[in-house]
Parts: sequence; C-alpha cells; structure tokens
Amino acid sequence: MSIKVPDLLAADCNACESLCCVAVSRKEVDGYKSNCESGEACANLDITCLQTGCRVYGILDQLGWEACHKFDCYGAGPVVKSAFDRLGISWRKANQVDRESLFAFFRLTRFVFNRLARAPNQYRALVSNQQVEQGLDRAFKSLLLNPLNDDEQMFEVFLIECPQFLLLPDMNEDVSSSQMIAAE
Ligand code: SF4
Ligand code: SF4
Repeated sequence: MSIKVPDLLAADCNACESLCCVAVSRKEVDGYKSNCESGEACANLDITCLQTGCRVYGILDQLGWEACHKFDCYGAGPVVKSAFDRLGISWRKANQVDRESLFAFFRLTRFVFNRLARAPNQYRALVSNQQVEQGLDRAFKSLLLNPLNDDEQMFEVFLIECPQFLLLPDMNEDVSSSQMIAAE
C-alpha cells in the first residue's frame, strides 16, 4: 500500500510544493483576489526557485488574500507529493497529463482528509485508516492507468474500497464548494 493517512491531519507546507496554489480553484467568491481555475498556478507563485513559494506570503492579509491563510489541506499536500515523488513526478516539471493526475489526486485526498478530520469521534470510528488507505490506493493506481479520470470518477473508485466513507457526515460548511471535488 503506497498511500498512508497521517497521524496528524494537518498541513505541513515545508514538506509540500505549494499544491494548493495550483491544484484547487481560487475564486473571488471564495475570498481570493483571483479567478483561477484548478490546475492554473497563482500569479503570485514563484516556481522558478528550487522549491515553490508565494512571493507575497508576508503581506497576504494586506493584499486581501486572507483566504490563503484559511485554506487547510488537512495533510493532503505532503501525502500526494510523496506519492508522486516515488514515481519521479513533480508538478513543476511534469507533462500536462501527469500534472492533471497529480492535481486530481490532491483534490480527492484533500476532500477525504477534510472529511476525516472534521468528523465527530462517534462517526470517525466507523471508518478505519486502512479502509481509507485502500480506497486512496485504488484511486491512485486507477489514475495512473487512466490519467483522464475526472474527480467524480476517482471518488467512485475510492468508494469501491472504502464505502464506509459515506457514513461520515458532511461537516464542510467552512470549505467553499469550488475547492471541493464535485462528488457525492
Ligand atoms: S497543499 Fe497543504 S501543505 Fe501544501 S502548501 Fe498548501 S496547505 Fe501547505
Ligand atoms: S497568493 Fe500566495 S499563498 Fe495565495 S494562492 Fe497565490 S501563491 Fe498561494
């Protein structure tokens, strides 16, 4: 099994490559100062350096980009980066098909981790990490075989191995719809 649910479902931006600044849409309606579609790198993102970084991170609030501080990937960024690292794929250097696969898998993983992190304990106990990992692993392998899978198809593949996930209640009122996969 190649995908692991981290003990701590929290972002670790030092172990990531600014995936959230590219893989998810960032729209004015969600509090961003842009209207980027998912897959479109933010204009403030510096991808020329060894690692990616936000050019305006220190003054995000002054510039009206408060939504960037509020975004939480619940640990999906490092997990997805690590999975693709093992294949020698980095989004900054990948071809378009690999990039789209990586971003789609990030959106699925973030959606799943978000739901796990926010589920009340009595519901969280209904879904084991192993079931989630099997679901993500299957989606990951499916994506590699068929890179043009879309988010909803990938979620369906995830559910084949982890149908228990649907027992978790939707606690995502703080997450904008455009940042979630359009599944369920
Ligand atoms: S995807 Fe997560 S870990 Fe990566 S930069 Fe964004 S918030 Fe940080
Ligand atoms: S403003 Fe900075 S932190 Fe926000 S999406 Fe753009 S690059 Fe990322």
